[in-house]
Amino acid sequence: MQPCAGCGLDFAAEAPSGRGLYLVVLPLVVVLVLAALKLDDACRPPLWVHALIWPPVVAAVIVGALRLVQVAHWRAVAPLQIGGGARAGGGETPSSAAVAAPSGQTPPPPFGRSPSPKPGGEA
Ligand SMILES: [Zn+2]
Repeated sequence: MQPCAGCGLDFAAEAPSGRGLYLVVLPLVVVLVLAALKLDDACRPPLWVHALIWPPVVAAVIVGALRLVQVAHWRAVAPLQIGGGARAGGGETPSSAAVAAPSGQTPPPPFGRSPSPKPGGEA
């Protein structure tokens, strides 16, 4: 993949791979399973209560965590690369400056697919 012609941002480094997904999701899955076991230990709810509670909880926790990670990732990585690339690029014509300012543009997520947890299997 070519770096950005305007500011030199290395898109290849930000290409969606899904690698980082597991580092975030796996610990959360462990915590959620432990939470389900703890709840079952504590008050022995019938199975349908588990089936009712856990799908939305799991979805909210996973999706929320991935969004936080994406925000943290882009706050940490993107400004450094854009700043460095713009400085290295040197003399800016008005047209290249316009290309180099992706302010109105939402950067793509670092992970390939949007998460689609299947919490039904856990409950
Ligand atoms: Zn750019």
